Amino acid sequence: MLNKLRTKLIAKLLNQSVQQDDKLSLYLISYASLLFCIPIRIFFLIFYLVQGITFLVVLNCESLLAYTVALLLLKRKKYKFIGLIIAIEATIYASVWAYMCGISSYIAGHFLLIIVMLILFPYGTAKTRKAIILLIFVVITVLGLRYAYTTPSVVFSERLNHFITMINIYIMFFGIILEISINTFVHLIVSRVKEGRLTELTSQIYTDPLTSLYNRRYTQIYFNTLKPRNGYICVAILDIDNFKLINDTYGHPCGDEILVFLSNFLQNSLRKTDRIFRWGGEEFLIIMENVTLNEAQIVIDKLRSKLGETEITTKQKGTLSITITAGIAPFDLTNSDASIEAADKNLYIGKRNGKNQVVI
Ligand code: GH3
Ligand code: MG
Ligand code: MG
Repeated sequence: MLNKLRTKLIAKLLNQSVQQDDKLSLYLISYASLLFCIPIRIFFLIFYLVQGITFLVVLNCESLLAYTVALLLLKRKKYKFIGLIIAIEATIYASVWAYMCGISSYIAGHFLLIIVMLILFPYGTAKTRKAIILLIFVVITVLGLRYAYTTPSVVFSERLNHFITMINIYIMFFGIILEISINTFVHLIVSRVKEGRLTELTSQIYTDPLTSLYNRRYTQIYFNTLKPRNGYICVAILDIDNFKLINDTYGHPCGDEILVFLSNFLQNSLRKTDRIFRWGGEEFLIIMENVTLNEAQIVIDKLRSKLGETEITTKQKGTLSITITAGIAPFDLTNSDASIEAADKNLYIGKRNGKNQVVI
């Protein structure tokens, strides 16, 4: 279930407008902190209402008011303020509580939670966070000294004090576990989102946006993955005949449609192992493994003849057809440039000899 939640969250965050990583972690932490704090305050509000301790009911109402402001700030993406509101509100809450009721019921656990939060999560500047931590130490010391000599104004019955102590220990115990887990979870999510963005970016760099085929940039990377054990390798360069005329006659958008059609046609007609690249404007480069030069010629020529007989339905200009010319050469792993150049030369021989043909 946690995995599903993680996957959903990562997918959502990849489309999120929160792009910077520190903002992303603050966004997640703000949500998590409010999800943890609000139910606790509601619980205490009801608890003290039932116990009839008016000033603690008012204190919890004030806390809930602060969280409402924090929720509004969450909508406005003011994450740093949310952290400060939570830290300051919790410090005031625990201080007032301890001032009125004493420190015998583990209220210090609340302070500990705030300190851990300020250490783990990057709310505010380091200076602000250090200042709040210092303030907490001063408050604890002052209250500690005060109650060494005086009795608090609100004294709970022994049973109630015992119960509140137990709840405070639970809050401290589970709160710290939760804070550490949230911190780990958030860092994991942030690193996954970073990885996701990197993959997206890499795929954008290496693919052609129009046809979604690999682009010229990717060829060298792909060539490096080819191994001599792959047997005989051939390289083919295909070029659409008179494409300029098609553009001039039917318009550029129609030309684009034809390019998309041809890229799909190539992918559907060739083997899965044949790698197709958009080499230039209307030129495609194909790397075919485990084929001899003659076999490659037969395959590409079949493809050429099938394409010539295919009626292409365009959104822009109805049906039309195209022809291609191709040049093929053996692919030398140690000299890819020379191999491509040889295929290119054959392509131009085909163009000179009247187009719509395959030359080896
Ligand atoms: P040939 O038969 O000798 O190959 O002639 P050609 O007209 O196909 O070749 P030429 O190199 O003269 O023209 C290629 C044209 O391809 C010119 C350019 O406008 C067009 N082109 C390049 N990229 C794109 C693209 O992404 N979309 C469209 N629609 N046209 C493109
Ligand atoms: Mg060309
Ligand atoms: Mg052309």
